[in-house]
Amino acid sequence: MDVIIIGGGLAGLVSGLELARAGHAVTIVERKTYPFHKVCGEYISNEVRPYLESLGVDLRTLGATHMDRFQFSSPSGRLLETALDLGGFGLSRYALDHALYQLAQSAGVRFLLGKQVEAVTFGADRFTLELNDGQVLNSRLVIGAFGKRSKIDKQLQRSFMQKPSPYLGVKYHIRTDAPVDTIALHNFPNGYCGLSSIEDGKFCLCYLTTRENLRPFGTIPAMEEAILFQNPHLKRVYERSEFLYEKPEVINEFSFAPKQAVEQHILMAGDSAGLITPLCGNGMALAIHSGKLVSALCSRYLSGKMSRAELEQRYQTEWSARFSRRLWVGRTVQRLFGDTWLSEAAVTVFGTFNPLLRGVIRQTHGAVLAVD
Ligand SMILES: Cc1cc2nc3c(=O)[nH]c(=O)nc-3n(C[C@H](O)[C@H](O)[C@H](O)COP(=O)(O)OP(=O)(O)OC[C@H]3O[C@@H](n4cnc5c(N)ncnc54)[C@H](O)[C@@H]3O)c2cc1C
Repeated sequence: MDVIIIGGGLAGLVSGLELARAGHAVTIVERKTYPFHKVCGEYISNEVRPYLESLGVDLRTLGATHMDRFQFSSPSGRLLETALDLGGFGLSRYALDHALYQLAQSAGVRFLLGKQVEAVTFGADRFTLELNDGQVLNSRLVIGAFGKRSKIDKQLQRSFMQKPSPYLGVKYHIRTDAPVDTIALHNFPNGYCGLSSIEDGKFCLCYLTTRENLRPFGTIPAMEEAILFQNPHLKRVYERSEFLYEKPEVINEFSFAPKQAVEQHILMAGDSAGLITPLCGNGMALAIHSGKLVSALCSRYLSGKMSRAELEQRYQTEWSARFSRRLWVGRTVQRLFGDTWLSEAAVTVFGTFNPLLRGVIRQTHGAVLAVD
């Protein structure tokens, strides 16, 4: 096998699809089975729209919505609105990942679904992977596209795993009467909640908070009522919407700390290489972009055009040049939100100097990803 990709989210699917189309033998190991839901705000920056369409993702048929307005409210409910220069679209991960999976499958990617990689080792210029069902696989390259946090991070003893992470992410699909063209970010004490339109007239309601916020209340509904409802916009959304899941999707224990793009010869893509804070609404674009980058470099290595050392060095350098600053801006801006005093102040400042807000948004977005 030329390449094994651990994780079939956006980074894994895009790199698998590109590598298979370039004629390489690729296996993706994904612990779940498509289609499936995932905690994610499901607002996708337009910077990757032309590229996704060039891969064959038919966004119109899938029902993607268009958003070019941004609204945010402070915990007390003071509201600010602005145009989004680049804008984005809304589509559930259930639909988007499934569409990419189908394209990758037709391109010849071999999928091992419902299976988990437990350990990866490198020796004698080859990788050995152990799966939870006892299978052992070998390959020339491994792409780590296993997302925010995985068993593999622990096995590799990655440095960010040493610190506990306080974050909690929660997602629902709802039907509500919000504007379809607007992505809203509503702040509440120690967290913020995104609301954006997706296919079939639905909306994605997704928030980030801390386990500390949950602890005194014990359950998610009790915390939502006590904390999120302090923001009158969120209270209104919860009270006037139809919630389409019995239970929300929930994740915790993920970190926004800097990571390495190459670890023990594994090329990390998407969140495994670095997670941008969700308020930037851009993690999916970064995952797609890094999938394109890593697959192009892997293809050069597999065709004998560069050595392993050159591949690793080039990937690390290009990854940092393209993404490091955006992740740093995201971490910095996130400090403004969640803190009640700072986010109230941010609404006042950005309300007075609207171009400043648009400037900050621009800093967390990249240029439109080129289609080769
Ligand atoms: C609360 C929240 C809201 C967000 N909202 C937005 C938003 O609105 N817009 C946006 O652009 N981004 C958003 N993001 C970020 C975005 O969701 C991620 O950046 C994006 O999903 C990254 O894609 P990925 O392919 O790297 O990882 P993922 O999509 O997480 O895929 C990783 C895959 O690996 C699999 N896996 C893990 N370990 C193993 C293993 N050992 N073996 C096999 N399979 C494994 C998992 O099952 C998973 O399917 C948000 C993030 C959070 C936390």
